Amino acid sequence: MNVSWRKRAACDGLNPEIFYPASEDESAAAEAKAVCSTCPVRQPCLEHALGNREREGIWGGMTERERRRIVRQRRKTA
Ligand code: SF4
Repeated sequence: MNVSWRKRAACDGLNPEIFYPASEDESAAAEAKAVCSTCPVRQPCLEHALGNREREGIWGGMTERERRRIVRQRRKTA
């Protein structure tokens, strides 16, 4: 598994708890999403989460619910 993209992660060194909010509400996820929106490796991060079925946390700027939606859409178009 190639995770070299992590070296350029905007979240590197930040409190990981930011990326594991208590709920998936927009307000709870807002801080993490704001960091992700500036991240140069957002796409590989998201693909990593999708490929590994990450069930928790914000990855690539998306909550688990948002990632599940992408998986469903990709299944439909596959
Ligand atoms: S997209 Fe977000 S969670 Fe992923 S590496 Fe970047 S800052 Fe971290």
